Amino acid sequence: MRTTNTLNKCHRCGATSYKPVIERDASGNMTPSGQHQCVGCGLTFGSIDEWRSGTRHNEQVPQQVNDKP
Ligand SMILES: [Zn+2]
Repeated sequence: MRTTNTLNKCHRCGATSYKPVIERDASGNMTPSGQHQCVGCGLTFGSIDEWRSGTRHNEQVPQQVNDKP
């Protein structure tokens, strides 16, 4: 059994996949908007972390453990 799978699923509906959001630009071309959409509930998000945890932080804050006495 594998236990190393990363937990990639929607925090709202539990869907395990998403798709890129395609938008039509001014010249009529369909281009990726840089956002993604959950295939389950249709939630649009800018980062995978937002999809998984529901937080809207774009920056990843590293957890720094200061063990200095
Ligand atoms: Zn969802």
